[in-house]
Amino acid sequence: MNEIKTILSEANNIVITTHKSPDGDAIGSSLALFHFLKKLGKKVTVVVPDAFPQFLNWMEGVEKILHYDKQEEEVISIIKAADLIFALDYNGLSRIGDLSLPVAASSAKKIVIDHHQNPQEFADYYVVDTDACSTSQLVYELIEKLGELDRLDEIIGSCIYCGIMTDTGSFRYPSTTSKTHQIIAHLIDLGVDGSQIHEWVYDTYSMNRLQLLGYALTEKMKVFPELNAAYISLSQEELKKYNFQKGDTEGLVNYPLSIEGIKFSTLITEKENDISMSFRSKGNFYVNELASENFDGGGHIYASGGRSLLTLEETIAKLEEVIQCYKSALTS
Ligand code: 5GP
Ligand code: MN
Repeated sequence: MNEIKTILSEANNIVITTHKSPDGDAIGSSLALFHFLKKLGKKVTVVVPDAFPQFLNWMEGVEKILHYDKQEEEVISIIKAADLIFALDYNGLSRIGDLSLPVAASSAKKIVIDHHQNPQEFADYYVVDTDACSTSQLVYELIEKLGELDRLDEIIGSCIYCGIMTDTGSFRYPSTTSKTHQIIAHLIDLGVDGSQIHEWVYDTYSMNRLQLLGYALTEKMKVFPELNAAYISLSQEELKKYNFQKGDTEGLVNYPLSIEGIKFSTLITEKENDISMSFRSKGNFYVNELASENFDGGGHIYASGGRSLLTLEETIAKLEEVIQCYKSALTS
């Protein structure tokens, strides 16, 4: 922490990066750190590899975020000028896609703040806690350890609140601790309106999005009651039919887990160039290893992702085989 303090005091041009398809925790933790570092008088830029869902657009500062897929040259020159780069909510360069090229080439000091398993070696400092519910909580704790909690305000607090809320499934996953609730209590005391944030994130569906959810659950969910597993698959054609927008399938993978007994759920989504996989589990069944060994991915024990270069049909067949392979773990 002392070394981080020194690096922070010496740094002037800071870049904050986060993972591809950024979620509430990625954007929440990045913008919280952004506003905090601004208060310390730093020049700070948040860079994301690609777009994030519209339901995060209420956050203060989103319009200042640079998108590498659209503003490549600007990002490259800002990263070249950086003396410190933060890596938030990811722990391996593959998670930021092509943005990894300028980041890896940069001689700036790099600090990872993250809560995923198995960090890769690409940074100078690692503020990692795999038990932490979210990177946003780790940003709060970093500010706390720096002795700077006095600088927190409603704006920083709202970003942290959003990250904790989205990564804990609204404060209900096992990663939610008394410390998490203490942080939330402090944020509410700062004026953060949790109910409003909940509404902005979860109650701003388009009609298409809600109907896609209904269709996916009614027509596309396959349940294996004897294996305690289920999956949902969606093709490009189906997504187009419901005018799919980024973020529209966020949370969908969790629904099968609410069926009694089901402890493993997968969402298979056909993208333009590959197939994206989302895995969720609970109880004694973990998905991170399943994701890394079979679907070129990884993540947390109860929430992982991956991809497949097979066709949608082949991917579904492979998943069904994988589910069979894990039969004993799934039924124990
Ligand atoms: P999601 O299903 O929401 O896309 O991802 C679930 C979790 O797994 C997230 O915490 C995400 O960061 C992580 N994750 C998703 N894809 C990958 C991947 O390809 N590799 C690794 N290591 N983690 C991933
Ligand atoms: Mn996270």
